[in-house]
Amino acid sequence: MNDTCLFCRIIERKVDADLLYEDDHVVAFRDIHPQAPVHVLIVPRTHIPTANDVRETHTPEITGLFQAATKIAVDQGVDQSGYRLVMNCHEGAGQSVFHLHLHLLGGRRMQWPPG
Ligand code: AMP
Repeated sequence: MNDTCLFCRIIERKVDADLLYEDDHVVAFRDIHPQAPVHVLIVPRTHIPTANDVRETHTPEITGLFQAATKIAVDQGVDQSGYRLVMNCHEGAGQSVFHLHLHLLGGRRMQWPPG
């Protein structure tokens, strides 16, 4: 827990969020500024700032992100229509919250390459 981290505060229920899923390793909630009809953030309970900080000891958290993503994709009805998983690392790639998170985006046609 990092008291200054927004996502840690959401995990600790100190900040409100539209929670969709949680388990021992991850918490998932709707993005406050959705970029698609379905836009969910999946975050590990452990405070890991960026993808650069992932270590072998984080295997349960990283596996948890993907297991949650596939469950949420089914629950949100986008597992067959298609969805995108995005993880931004540092400001140059668009990271604005420095607590590792996976964006799950779906419910519309996605373009490639991303901007
Ligand atoms: P990133 O820019 O990849 O670090 O993603 C951070 C995401 O967090 C952005 O898509 C924001 O819209 C989202 N966000 C910021 N504050 C909140 C909040 N209080 N609740 C839910 N999502 C948030």
